[in-house]
Amino acid sequence: MSTSSPATPSASPRTLASWYASVSPVLENVIDRPRKHRSSERVIPILGVPYDAVLAFVRFLYSSSCTEENMEKYGIHLLALSHVYLVPQLKHRCTKELGQRLTIENVVDVLQLAKMCDAADLYLKCLKLVANHFKVVETTEGWKFLQDHDPWLELDILQFIDEIESRKKRARKHREEQRLYLQLSEAMECLEHICKEGCTSVGPYDMEPGHKRRPCSKFSTCQGLQMLFQHFATCKRRVNGGCLRCKRMWQLLKLHSSMCDEPDSCRVPLCRQFKLKMQQEKKRDEARWKLLVKKVVSAKTISSLSLPKRKREEELGEARSTTPPPNGIRSFRL
Ligand SMILES: [Zn+2]
Ligand SMILES: [Zn+2]
Ligand SMILES: [Zn+2]
Repeated sequence: MSTSSPATPSASPRTLASWYASVSPVLENVIDRPRKHRSSERVIPILGVPYDAVLAFVRFLYSSSCTEENMEKYGIHLLALSHVYLVPQLKHRCTKELGQRLTIENVVDVLQLAKMCDAADLYLKCLKLVANHFKVVETTEGWKFLQDHDPWLELDILQFIDEIESRKKRARKHREEQRLYLQLSEAMECLEHICKEGCTSVGPYDMEPGHKRRPCSKFSTCQGLQMLFQHFATCKRRVNGGCLRCKRMWQLLKLHSSMCDEPDSCRVPLCRQFKLKMQQEKKRDEARWKLLVKKVVSAKTISSLSLPKRKREEELGEARSTTPPPNGIRSFRL
């Protein structure tokens, strides 16, 4: 590249020097270096890049623009040049455009270049693409070349994939737990509602017998609980006999009692007894139990805060239309 570029024949070397200085501090340094002869031309060799890519680069220095065609053909070269000669506008443009043109075939090459050029956004974008399509990416020439020539970068990429996977797993686990706590919180509501007002054919003993009530809005959960209640009232084996359904009921009643603020006036069976028992016995698993209570209470709040109203209604609708499992609330794994 020469400072007496034919693109601007009328400009003096001094004007050109200050122009380069304004777009690239690296070029400014090269141009300002003392020369042997005052009249000699300043030549800056640029090697390893196609001639047309250098031309597109110089054009950008003068016009601050680059055609789509040049970007398509020489995007990676222009990124390298903009990094080496510190031309931030061009680097920004290349990073953005290369990010939009990523393919399975070119992603590993672009990733290596992005790392060399400290283009963090582009590097991350490449990593994500590799992580999401690793099975295909690992069959490309680019990946094989990387394995042979840069095992440290290969390790970085594999670690990134591993972190993404474990993050996904953690998120999935968290979502499943939240769903369970939400189910438990709904079961607690149904428990109180069955014992207070009754629902369809199950209700408090002092309520008018044979009085059929309409199914409530949470009937899929409520019906499971009603079946559990009916079983609990008639089972011969009970909890001590090893009956799992009775044990489940027992745990739901205990959970209710832990959350109940009015055990004296509460109509849920065994609420007061559980409260007293828990106060007397400082059990070893008390902390774990308290944590469960806290999670069940907060699950409802979290879900009502994080879902927009329409979504919430849709979810409720779905829940209502789901038939309950045959043995009631099998999904509660207490
Ligand atoms: Zn109900
Ligand atoms: Zn039983
Ligand atoms: Zn209670």
